[in-house]
Amino acid sequence: MSQDSSAAATLTIDRDALRANWRLLAERCAPAECAGVVKADGYGIGATLAGKALAAEGCRTFFVARLSEGEALRAALPEATIYVLDGLLPGSAPALRAAGLRPALGSFEEIAEWRSAGGGPAALHVDTGMNRLGMTPADAAAGLKALGAGCTLLMSHFASSENTASPDNEIQIQAFNAIAALNPNIPASLCNSSGIFLPQRPLHALARPGYALYGGNPTPGAPNPMRAVIALEAPIAQVRRVPAGARVGYNGQWTARRPTTLAIIPVGYADGIPRGAMGAHEKAGAPVAIAGARCAIAGRVSMDLIAIDATDAPPAAVRRGAPVELIGPHVTLDAFAEGAGTIGYEILTNLGRRYRRRVAG
Ligand SMILES: *Cc1c(COP(=O)(O)O)cnc(C)c1O
Repeated sequence: MSQDSSAAATLTIDRDALRANWRLLAERCAPAECAGVVKADGYGIGATLAGKALAAEGCRTFFVARLSEGEALRAALPEATIYVLDGLLPGSAPALRAAGLRPALGSFEEIAEWRSAGGGPAALHVDTGMNRLGMTPADAAAGLKALGAGCTLLMSHFASSENTASPDNEIQIQAFNAIAALNPNIPASLCNSSGIFLPQRPLHALARPGYALYGGNPTPGAPNPMRAVIALEAPIAQVRRVPAGARVGYNGQWTARRPTTLAIIPVGYADGIPRGAMGAHEKAGAPVAIAGARCAIAGRVSMDLIAIDATDAPPAAVRRGAPVELIGPHVTLDAFAEGAGTIGYEILTNLGRRYRRRVAG
């Protein structure tokens, strides 16, 4: 893959913004500690890049989802405390121990397997309302006893923290308070990014933000307190002018209603642009911008290409090689995701491998 070609879509990662976001969250969490969640390759920007940048800022505790992610992060951060959120998959205890990783144990079976493999520091994961991973609150006391001195963190996860009006939050907060009170000497952790911004401030000892670090809005519906970390830009590969009535893309799902200028850009679903970003007349799809002017996607997202209706963009900016902004100053990550019918988390974690990646800061 050519790294210097300017004739490619470019993903810019602003490392300074990532660091500033962690500082802002850490200040907001204090006196609780602020960890960094770098699972799924650091939400697509690179787990090693993110982990090193956050560690340089003072972050000491990290969360990944998988053993393999933990092993890779351990190589980059020999001193860090690293928890593996997916817990203890059968047979994985020796590898976790060898890499100095701490599983988030969520059942008596996992606790028993961890202990019989030699044990060591681990989190106890209690499910307070997701019915995903973790012990039931009723089992938490027995789980703590079974894990014994190895338990270095008591944790649970919010189901609806981005929705401050959801009654789920208060129910989970109360349930987790009762669990944390079982042993006040063990650090407790409940908050993801949005949890940090809940009015109840259920911070306990440690917060676990991911999305907000990467610039996603942890307070949907209110202004984003975070700085943008990624920008995505693609050069125009071809400009075409089509008459009213022309149909665009696979299955002709979009029809020009006026003489139209189309800008074709070299990004597609193989680069992580969801097919749900398509523009049709009933549904605008994901927005993009040309020279600051908002434009719509015309028709289906192909594997490698997208057509943009560039008719309303400044004509001088619609030329072969000129940039189209998919995510940047005029189209936020959250706005692009919403237009594509998904969430920014999914856009980030699907960021393609074919982009020219540029790290700023
Ligand atoms: C992914 C995850 C987080 C981080 O969530 P964000 O919403 O990205 O801040 C925290 N805790 C657990 C258990 C997770 O799975």
